[in-house]
Amino acid sequence: MSKGQLVYSGKAKELYTTSEPGVLQVVYLDQATALNGLRKDQMSGKGQLNNQITSLIFKYLSEQGIANHFIKEVSPTEQLVTKVAMIPLEVVLRNVATGSFVKKFNAVEGTVLNPLIEFYYKNDALDDPMMNDAHVTVLKIATAEQVAQIKAQTLELNQTLMPLFEKIGLTLVDFKVEYGVTPSGELLLADEITPDTCRLWDRETGKSLDKDVYRKETGDLIGVYQEVLARLKQALAQ
Ligand code: ADP
Ligand code: UDP
Repeated sequence: MSKGQLVYSGKAKELYTTSEPGVLQVVYLDQATALNGLRKDQMSGKGQLNNQITSLIFKYLSEQGIANHFIKEVSPTEQLVTKVAMIPLEVVLRNVATGSFVKKFNAVEGTVLNPLIEFYYKNDALDDPMMNDAHVTVLKIATAEQVAQIKAQTLELNQTLMPLFEKIGLTLVDFKVEYGVTPSGELLLADEITPDTCRLWDRETGKSLDKDVYRKETGDLIGVYQEVLARLKQALAQ
């Protein structure tokens, strides 16, 4: 299947059509951004690392019965996915208080949450405002039924990912996921699960093995992503 037209160019990925109308080719870019794109840096090797990390995780999720858009890797930086109509929501699940939650509510860093699910409207021009269920339904971003499904599936996803990361010595502190809808109306987990979209704390040292090293300029992003990939490979290698 060959790569066709560029249909979307984002901060971390590009999407291309393929000869199959229901399939997109995703190219993971060597680009890191923070502050909603205000800070941007080229980082050689990041695209490969994220493509490999998210592919391993989505394959594992499929094996665990969690449906998602991933089809297969086609090159070190590229994968095929099922095309869906994206719901413009960033669905954040927090197991431990940190980041914007601590800033917004003056909460104590490290507090164990229940977990907590938050919705953000995926809209760069509006700076991704936080919303509640009523905002999502009133603005017709998703139906009440879809909101309930998104919450249930995100909690189930957390229950599947937490032990996986625990096995590789990491605490899944929080993560962001996105969902889309297939032509037949099925809600499907899409986008990516990588250290760009998760916070992962080493269970021994407490150190961040995720994009916080770039956000806070405390370490080498490529080095820590390599570490996450190596640990995942070891745990998931067939
Ligand atoms: P951003 O849009 O935030 O800059 P990316 O660079 O990661 O983010 O761009 C990838 C885009 O692809 C996102 O807008 C995401 O919603 C979208 N996307 C992810 N998976 C799919 C899919 N299976 N079908 C259609 N669009 C998708
Ligand atoms: N996140 C993300 N994309 C965003 C905002 C947040 O992937 O645009 C992830 C982030 O990596 C973290 C979780 O969502 O794992 C919660 O992020 P938070 O709201 O604390 O945001 P931040 O501190 O990055 O502003």
